[in-house]
Amino acid sequence: MSRIAYVNGRYLSLAEARVGVEDRSFQFSDGVYEVAAVMNNRLLDGAAHLARLGRSLRAMAMAAPMGDAALGLVARRLVAANRARDALLYVQVSRGEAKRDHAVPAGVRPTLVMTVRPFDFGARRRAVEGGMAVATMADQRWARPDIKSVSLLPNVLAKEAARTAGAGEAWLVGHDGLVTEGGSTNAWIVDAQGVLRTRAADGAILAGVMRATLMRVAGEIGTAVEERAFTVAQALGAREAFLTSTTNPCVPVVRIDGAAVADGVPGPVSRQLSEALWGEIARQTGWVG
Ligand code: PLP
Repeated sequence: MSRIAYVNGRYLSLAEARVGVEDRSFQFSDGVYEVAAVMNNRLLDGAAHLARLGRSLRAMAMAAPMGDAALGLVARRLVAANRARDALLYVQVSRGEAKRDHAVPAGVRPTLVMTVRPFDFGARRRAVEGGMAVATMADQRWARPDIKSVSLLPNVLAKEAARTAGAGEAWLVGHDGLVTEGGSTNAWIVDAQGVLRTRAADGAILAGVMRATLMRVAGEIGTAVEERAFTVAQALGAREAFLTSTTNPCVPVVRIDGAAVADGVPGPVSRQLSEALWGEIARQTGWVG
């Protein structure tokens, strides 16, 4: 079955779906997006993704293409049209199509695109067993990584450099030597003192929806989280490390720049948090693999 995309009010086959060359997302990266998991035909953390989209739009002084209820309706229709049980829903909003001019033209209507692509969450759950290697590199992004903008070039280059280094993710490091986050994930450690730490949503990271869900789940099982950034050296000396995102709900980090984290295998805290998180996913969506 061919995939169906939503573009500005129309449901089209992906092969026919188009955005104009004058669209400001193509010309200037002038757009924002969201990625949400569809599991067992249900949206995971839908309200949180919608809220973050609203925040990104406001931060860019960009008009919302429609109200939240209508966005939710289009998303559900598109998921149904694609008959994808397990998938990723992409929502992309650009400032719109207008004659090229850096300054924002008056009266431009936002472009709204939604796509759904099948996704194997089972593989991501199995990835917990082996864990992932990460490679560290300088964080070269703009000063507003808290906005989920489509301007992802530094993330693309970082993830490509990580891949070349044989790692599954890049960990980005600021001028101060502190890890900000991954190329498309949030970064966590269980430090040498046994404290579960992730950087605060201090403007230097994207506040991941899965990060927030994991924090909540950790609280429910009695594990305290400290929102405090860490250096690469602290991560290398940590008892455990892991990362979170919609596409990698909780994956242990077993090597950093080729060096093993502790004994180089997923640790007990990461495993326990991962189990609790998959339990929360099952509770919300009924997904069991
Ligand atoms: N950080 C960055 C830079 C990301 O691009 C993403 C997701 O794409 C995340 C963190 C994780 O966010 P979420 O948990 O909402 O998927």
